[in-house]
Amino acid sequence: MNYHDTSTEVAEVTVVLGEDFHELRDSVRRICQKFPGEYWRALDDNSGYPTEFVAALTEAGFLGALIPEEYGGSGLPLRAAAVILEEINASGCSASPAHAQMYIMGTLLRHGSEQQKRKYLPEIASGRLRLQAFGVTEPNTGSDTTQLKTRADRQGDHYIINGQKVWTSRALHSDLMLLLARTTPIDQVKRRTDGLSVFLIDLREAKGNGVEIRPIKAMINHNTTEVFIENLRVPAANLIGEEGQGFRYILDGMNAERILVASECVGDGRWLLNKGVAYANERQVFGRPIGQNQGIQFPLARAYAELEAADMMCRRAAALFQAGLPCGPDANIAKLLASEATWKAADTTFQTHGGFAFAQEYDVERKWREVRIYQTAPISTNMVLAYVAQHVLGLPRSY
Ligand SMILES: Cc1cc2nc3c(=O)[nH]c(=O)nc-3n(C[C@H](O)[C@H](O)[C@H](O)COP(=O)(O)OP(=O)(O)OC[C@H]3O[C@@H](n4cnc5c(N)ncnc54)[C@H](O)[C@@H]3O)c2cc1C
Repeated sequence: MNYHDTSTEVAEVTVVLGEDFHELRDSVRRICQKFPGEYWRALDDNSGYPTEFVAALTEAGFLGALIPEEYGGSGLPLRAAAVILEEINASGCSASPAHAQMYIMGTLLRHGSEQQKRKYLPEIASGRLRLQAFGVTEPNTGSDTTQLKTRADRQGDHYIINGQKVWTSRALHSDLMLLLARTTPIDQVKRRTDGLSVFLIDLREAKGNGVEIRPIKAMINHNTTEVFIENLRVPAANLIGEEGQGFRYILDGMNAERILVASECVGDGRWLLNKGVAYANERQVFGRPIGQNQGIQFPLARAYAELEAADMMCRRAAALFQAGLPCGPDANIAKLLASEATWKAADTTFQTHGGFAFAQEYDVERKWREVRIYQTAPISTNMVLAYVAQHVLGLPRSY
């Protein structure tokens, strides 16, 4: 074998099969039951934000799952957080309005100063402060993150920030935003990954004082926005970690993010597949259930098999992560397979529903639209494939 085949690495980790974190799943389900399809449909119609749902999750302590107990959270392992997100989606609700709190918080936890952690983490865990926005993507540089144009220039004990972000989801429903900006011009750094820094922006103060946020009308209700930043003054105390090391800090959180988003995909896939199977059993055409036809049942069976494989990969990646072992390939592959498996489940369930798939009251068309995102954000499939090609197969870097 002349490439780095992760399956041949010897690593003893425990992967629990079946309904792990059973009680946690039960409590998530109980909350989700209070937020049925009509609730999400109404939000979808009005581009609304599920404030009550997010409040219920926060109150139950779910969004502080990964915050250590000493900072007011529950200090649960990554797999527990993955289970929470999976179960929310498997219940027909949507984890995306709240998931960033889990994804982003890790940067503050791992790289923030003790003072920053004491100031913000207990507030985030209690829900008094919402950290739901992450400003990385820019309109002109996209996936080529190191080329981003937003600049932060130090002036005394402040930074002055100028630039623009796009697709900054939930910025209008968040008190804090984690922002990636360039602090040293790219032509003055050794590596293009140097000279980027992470800031914690207090949007409550910044809105109208250097920050303007405009919603983007999108195919899905993701509360996503454009953020315009002009001469925003940010205290130097809001820099996370060391100046110039921000790209590394963001990369550092990627494996956890990939595993969490993959688990959300699995949850959505399960909900969709259940809907498809139920309809295939129920719907009678030509005097028999449509699910009796192999043309209907085989795609459902295939979607199930692909979801199971993706779920197994999520569990494996989470187990490696928890054991502190390298998990980059596993986390990326989990995200790749899960995003495609949930899309397969969505499309199969859509087709199974015939014309009724288009009727909003079935929620199938909404979920079908929603799960398309995972192949594009938070990272697009090609970028994941490029990672596997380069870092696992040892092929030349393609960009
Ligand atoms: C609903 C939604 C919510 C989002 N939320 C956030 C958020 O909260 N915060 C945030 O920072 N960003 C967010 N994003 C942005 C998202 O992360 C980006 O859209 C995504 O990373 C792709 O970047 P891009 O759109 O600029 O595509 P581009 O980088 O322009 O790429 C376009 C296509 O070309 C492919 N491509 C580009 N370069 C290569 C290459 N070298 N090799 C092969 N293929 C290549 C890409 O894979 C993609 O398919 C969100 C996006 C959406 C749609």
